[in-house]
This record gives sequence, C-alpha cells and structure tokens, in this order.
Amino acid sequence: MHYCPMKVMAMRSQQYVKTGICEKYQTLLEECERALANWNERRAKITQSRLVGKEEGDELLRLQVKYARAYTVLQNHTPHCTFCQLVKRLERRESDAVFDGARYR
Ligand SMILES: [Zn+2]
Repeated sequence: MHYCPMKVMAMRSQQYVKTGICEKYQTLLEECERALANWNERRAKITQSRLVGKEEGDELLRLQVKYARAYTVLQNHTPHCTFCQLVKRLERRESDAVFDGARYR
C-alpha cells in the first residue's frame, strides 16, 4: 500500500483543529510541566534536607537548565508551527466575529 504521510497528517490535523490542540504543542507543554515539577520537587527536597552540596547544586542546575530548554522549545514552537498558526488564526477570526457583532449591534 502506498503510504502518504501528508494525507495522514492532514487527517490528523483536521481532527485536532476541531479541538484546537496541536499534538506537538501538547507534548512540549507536558515535557515543560514535567521538567518544572521535577525541578521544584528536587529543590524542595534538597532544601528540606539542608544538605546542599556541590552534587545537589549541580543536580538542581541541570534540572533548571532542562526546564529552561523545554520552555524555550515550547516558546519557539508556535511561531514556526503551521498548525498552531492555523489554530491561532481561527481563534482570532472567532474573536473578530464577536467584536464585529458588538460593533454593529
Ligand atoms: Zn504546533
């Protein structure tokens, strides 16, 4: 069978446009949230134990960098993602419609 990735993507996109969620964005967001939770958790534990040595400091720094990186990737995703731009445009059109309705009432 001939496999056409564009067709599959279009079908999947259609499904996601309806819900207004970009699958990739969702994944990145989850990664970002997980990284932040990890960092907070470790920081709380290490602070509690009052044993902040070089090893712990390095670990926290690593977790912080990981979160910062995940956050940057997330921030950089939307302007370069066709799907996220599409969702944004649709959302804007909807709010424009509301605005027009209010104006011409
Ligand atoms: Zn996206």
